Amino acid sequence: MEHISNRVKSLAQSATLAMSQKSAELKAQGISMINLSVGEPDFNTPLHIKDAAKRAIDENFSFYTPVPGYMSLRKAVSEKLRRENGIDFAPEQIVVGNGAKQALCNVILSAINPGDEVIIPVPAWVSYMEMVKLAEGHNVLIPASIENNFKITPAQLEAAITPATRMILLCSPSNPTGAVYSRDELQGLVDVLARHPQIIVLADEIYEHINFTGSFTSMASFPEIKDRTVIINGVSKAYAMTGWRIGYCAAPLWLAKAVTKLQGQYTSGASSIAQKAAEAAYTGPQDCVEEMRLAFLRRRNLVVELASQIPGWKVNVPDGAFYLFPEVSAYFGKKYGDRTIADAGDLAMFLLEEAHVATVSGDAFAMPGYIRLSYATSDDNIREAFARITRALALLK
Ligand code: PMP
Ligand code: GLU
Repeated sequence: MEHISNRVKSLAQSATLAMSQKSAELKAQGISMINLSVGEPDFNTPLHIKDAAKRAIDENFSFYTPVPGYMSLRKAVSEKLRRENGIDFAPEQIVVGNGAKQALCNVILSAINPGDEVIIPVPAWVSYMEMVKLAEGHNVLIPASIENNFKITPAQLEAAITPATRMILLCSPSNPTGAVYSRDELQGLVDVLARHPQIIVLADEIYEHINFTGSFTSMASFPEIKDRTVIINGVSKAYAMTGWRIGYCAAPLWLAKAVTKLQGQYTSGASSIAQKAAEAAYTGPQDCVEEMRLAFLRRRNLVVELASQIPGWKVNVPDGAFYLFPEVSAYFGKKYGDRTIADAGDLAMFLLEEAHVATVSGDAFAMPGYIRLSYATSDDNIREAFARITRALALLK
């Protein structure tokens, strides 16, 4: 007899990973696929980081690691936060986990009780809402419009806050829109949050370095809310290390301790070798980060140029990350053969099967009417993908 818990039954499957899997399956059947679904840098991990991992193996970093991570890595992260972000978190306030994904889930499970409200501006990354569901919290979604470059306003935030609000989850630069809040825009939100001391501010800054605005402000740099702000970051995006699975939270000490207790019963400390590699990423030369940022900037410009030529798509210029989030509802109601496009999910499936380009429906990011394209792939792949998308969309009448 099959018996699945209500907790897992109520979870949605990760749409980003599911579309990527579908793309891989079609590719295995011999179809030439272009995968613009999953968001991961297409670069190899820089050499000096790989060398550090090889050294860690030779030097027998093969034993269980401390639950919150090696002290040397937590010190390197603490120094990074001071050096790059001007913020002060002691190594004891940092807990390293298996990717930013686990770091986020750790914090949500450690801070949210059943019934607590978590405010999430949407569109938002697929896993936030599901993590809140795991903690039996309530998602309170604030829609941000393409006209406002997918950013919420202080008035929207104020209106969403109730006595049950326990947390706000902000992501800038954003997945899936690439929106980057300026310091002034963040200050507007902080002014509201400062009036509500019960709210924990969970700031996902994983795309910090893939930013085309020329400036980045960490949420923890506002003294009004610093003592209840948690920063999430990691090496996946900035150092092209998605498979190494190292991310962290930097949190108030009481919350870092709770997260450590949870992680100690659940997964233990993260991989010894990957931690030594991450330490090299933070303490070693940083030119690789800028080289990759410049490649993403070039591709951003290319993608915006090509997407703007597609009839019916509404496109804004993303300021960071490596995603484009066009509005595509002009195609809803159109047909090709016996296939009708009712929504963005149908359009994403149509593009997968007819154009052999994998994208993700905006519904997975709580924003129907849009699709997400990841441009973390070569310029040639981007050009070919848009040629295919243009041809396929022309079939819809
Ligand atoms: N936050 C956001 C906004 C993401 O897009 C991702 C996806 N990689 C993560 C967190 C998780 O990253 P990691 O690979 O470090 O788990
Ligand atoms: N964060 C990436 C994405 O949004 C990786 C896949 C995932 O973990 O969701 O595509």
